[in-house]
Amino acid sequence: MDTTYDVVVVGAGPAGATAAHELSQRGHSVLMLDRMGRIKPCGGAIPPRLIKDFDIPDHLLVAKSRKARMISPKDNRVDIPIDGGFVGMVNRNEFDEWLRQRAVDHGAHRQQGTFERLTQDMDGTRRVHFEAREGRGEVQMRSVRARFVIGADGAKSEVAKQAIEGAEKTKYVFAYHEIVKAPHADPSHDPDRCDVYYRGSLSPDFYGWVFPHGDTMSIGTGSADKGYSLKSAVMRLRETAGLAQAETLRREGAPIPLKPLPKWDNERDVVLAGDAAGVVAPASGEGIYYAMVGGRFAAQAVRECLLSGNTNTLKLARKRFMKLHGQVFWVLGIMQYFWYINDKRRERFVKICEDKDVQKLTFDAYMNKELVRSDPMAHVRIFFKDLAHLFGLIRT
Ligand SMILES: Cc1cc2nc3c(=O)[nH]c(=O)nc-3n(C[C@H](O)[C@H](O)[C@H](O)COP(=O)(O)OP(=O)(O)OC[C@H]3O[C@@H](n4cnc5c(N)ncnc54)[C@H](O)[C@@H]3O)c2cc1C
Repeated sequence: MDTTYDVVVVGAGPAGATAAHELSQRGHSVLMLDRMGRIKPCGGAIPPRLIKDFDIPDHLLVAKSRKARMISPKDNRVDIPIDGGFVGMVNRNEFDEWLRQRAVDHGAHRQQGTFERLTQDMDGTRRVHFEAREGRGEVQMRSVRARFVIGADGAKSEVAKQAIEGAEKTKYVFAYHEIVKAPHADPSHDPDRCDVYYRGSLSPDFYGWVFPHGDTMSIGTGSADKGYSLKSAVMRLRETAGLAQAETLRREGAPIPLKPLPKWDNERDVVLAGDAAGVVAPASGEGIYYAMVGGRFAAQAVRECLLSGNTNTLKLARKRFMKLHGQVFWVLGIMQYFWYINDKRRERFVKICEDKDVQKLTFDAYMNKELVRSDPMAHVRIFFKDLAHLFGLIRT
């Protein structure tokens, strides 16, 4: 029998697994298709808001970072305590697998296979073709019918390319990191601290990071400059951070989309979520939370369409997302453009981070995903301090 699913979700990372969970727990028939077998290259830093909104159990957090150290080109170090909270660290193999299993526990079917193409049957229903990988590793071409397709197959999404006009124009940053064994025996190693390096020698347009992950650490950097050697930059970062000799467990990289696509649906039966839709925050490169929110909104939009038959509701996925996060993406985009442009500006940027108002606002915005309104004067103070830095009235 040719099964027709309500929804086929292509890609089961944070976006796809969340969408599959949302739909299956509401009784829809869902097939979650993923090629599996590769750990997503990712620093794995997640905010408390994600843990709360998506009921993430504590055992998935391999580290809880309670302070961030910002390091300038001239090695000015600003330690920012994360008062009353923490940045959670997850290992993506365990985290993604847990999200997939949650969807399966609510009734989603899971299929290992690589998405190939979308076609349409004579009755107008979508057909999703994929190369299936069965139990003993045999490969065969298969297809299923779907009322709706959610494209959550990450950056450079094949679903987006085939179904969404203009998707092929998306621009990317490339990020690369190395996973090393944590040097627990080294007395200077702090397993609770995230280090963020703002230096042209480590990235011409982004930042370098050293994140603790319990027994391991993620050391990475990113850039939109295709000619820039990220591997050499990570080598320099490892030397700077005293981790050159740490045992390397994995080396891996992946593209990160630069901005949300102007369109996430085909006005008919396909909608995108997560990196496939281009939603990674500028300046920070944070994508897991936004992928999960996108997955949830895509699921909601498809559900509304399944119930009403009105394909206009597919648009709501993007509309709702941008209403909540569009402003923050815009501000972060300007921030990256302005502060990450040269070492002089980076030096000032780290200097600004010494300011308690800036620390509070930045971390509240990261942790809770809301622009803080409780202290409107803080915004005013920061505005004037920013101007003073901009015109060089404050010495770095
Ligand atoms: C080096 C690096 C570090 C990062 N660090 C952080 C960080 O610390 N914190 C943070 O929030 N974000 C970080 N990000 C961004 C974050 O990883 C992504 O934004 C996030 O994973 C997006 O989730 P997603 O579900 O949309 O896509 P993905 O996680 O990429 O998942 C896509 C899924 O689709 C599957 N797939 C792809 N193509 C096919 C196909 N043809 N057929 C079947 N399946 C397919 C893949 O197997 C995968 O499981 C980082 C990114 C990189 C590259």
